[in-house]
Amino acid sequence: MLRRTKIVATLGPATDSPEALDKLIEAGVDVVRLNFSHGSEEEHLNRAETVRNRARAHGRQVGVIADLQGPKIRIGRFIEGKVELVEGDSFCLDMGLDINSGTKDAVGSTYKKLHEDLSRGDSLLLDDGRIALWVKEVEGDKIYCRVTTGGALSNNKGINLQGGGLSAAALTDKDRVDIKIAAKMQADYVAVSFVRSAEDVREARELLVEAGWGECGIISKMERAESIPIADEIIKESDGIMVARGDLGVEIGDASLPPVQKRLIKLARSMDRFAITATQMMESMIENSIPTRAEVFDVANAVLDGTDAVMLSGETAVGKHPAKVVNAMANICLEAEQQRQAKVSGHRMNEHFQRRDEAIAMAAMYTANHLGVKAIASLTESGATALWMSRISSGIPIFAMTRDLQTRRKVTIYRGVYPVSFDLISKEKDVVNQEMIDELVRRGVVRAKDTVIITKGDLVGEGGGTNIMKICYVGDTVVS
Ligand code: PGA
Ligand code: MN
Repeated sequence: MLRRTKIVATLGPATDSPEALDKLIEAGVDVVRLNFSHGSEEEHLNRAETVRNRARAHGRQVGVIADLQGPKIRIGRFIEGKVELVEGDSFCLDMGLDINSGTKDAVGSTYKKLHEDLSRGDSLLLDDGRIALWVKEVEGDKIYCRVTTGGALSNNKGINLQGGGLSAAALTDKDRVDIKIAAKMQADYVAVSFVRSAEDVREARELLVEAGWGECGIISKMERAESIPIADEIIKESDGIMVARGDLGVEIGDASLPPVQKRLIKLARSMDRFAITATQMMESMIENSIPTRAEVFDVANAVLDGTDAVMLSGETAVGKHPAKVVNAMANICLEAEQQRQAKVSGHRMNEHFQRRDEAIAMAAMYTANHLGVKAIASLTESGATALWMSRISSGIPIFAMTRDLQTRRKVTIYRGVYPVSFDLISKEKDVVNQEMIDELVRRGVVRAKDTVIITKGDLVGEGGGTNIMKICYVGDTVVS
């Protein structure tokens, strides 16, 4: 069985050895994430190059996401490394304090304007919600708080405002530099952290164009409370979204996450965009060799929600069992997918289509779901046809056949879509259909008498040219 849900693995020290990376690829990683919150330019460039080389050696295609750090607000450091905060105590976030001089009474922050966004009654959550502070008073650049949830607080922990509303812009100076690095490595996607508005996404796209890498896809990380009500505007400007449950959960409360995850995935799909479900999916496997049952259910439920991809963060980047966790995740996805083999779909049933390639994609899926088709082979330049097709619930694999390397890399994240290198230009026109089918036979996905759908265009090598759908039986002589 081909797994339809894609796996994104964050690279890090635990995956840097060639052996570890090979094992990760063999376990079936589809896309890697380079986390720009950690690591140097050289490290990121090296990782991107190495993973592509190793993928090529395995005859595979692996997508690359450059994930920008964004305006993650952090406290400074403590003289002693960490302090113990006790419920009821006073504690001050002091924007004037040296970044390295924190004590049990006060600490500085990386975001020097934090006091401007806060007032009495606000709740601040530190270290992913482990510590909570209630704002008593803001005086100048000092934020006087009462500790409402105590515990150990150590250097550089993140700060979130409950309910959202911190005004830091999505793209920081560091992000602007990092976008150039993403362009240099020709990342397939850039993930923009803490997106607040559609304008943030447009700005990221402009910066990519300026950096000479306009082909790059953009993933908007949904992790601010205020981005949720305007999710449709943000999604419209993006190629895909990430349900970034870590920061989002802190801002809106973890209990609100499950319905929001379902809504965001559904919305993205309905708008012909993809969705990644991220953070703490297999967290316990950073240490352990098997997941908890709750984690098994979490991954399975994301699959049932219709996510394109499930993501691993620390589990692969710094975990003890990077390949094992990918294997375990792959198994859960495969099982869950058996429960969601919709043969009918209401997707865009009442909509007017704008383009003929779009109409062909929809017609092919409608036919495939109703006729009992084994596989779909789509000749594509940009991958758009495959994306449209994969928005429709179906258990049928879609093979995106293209000579365009960038397209093959991009489709690695689409659920149920598999990249195939296919050089149309060098082939005689009347053998193309047959060769497409032969490729599916070679991959073991179809055999004699199976039904296959082919989509393609009259004109070779033109984006948006798909205007043909053909239903073929494997083994029959197929003419052009
Ligand atoms: P991060 O984003 O890992 O870059 O913080 C994901 C999340 O917040 O869930
Ligand atoms: Mn985040």
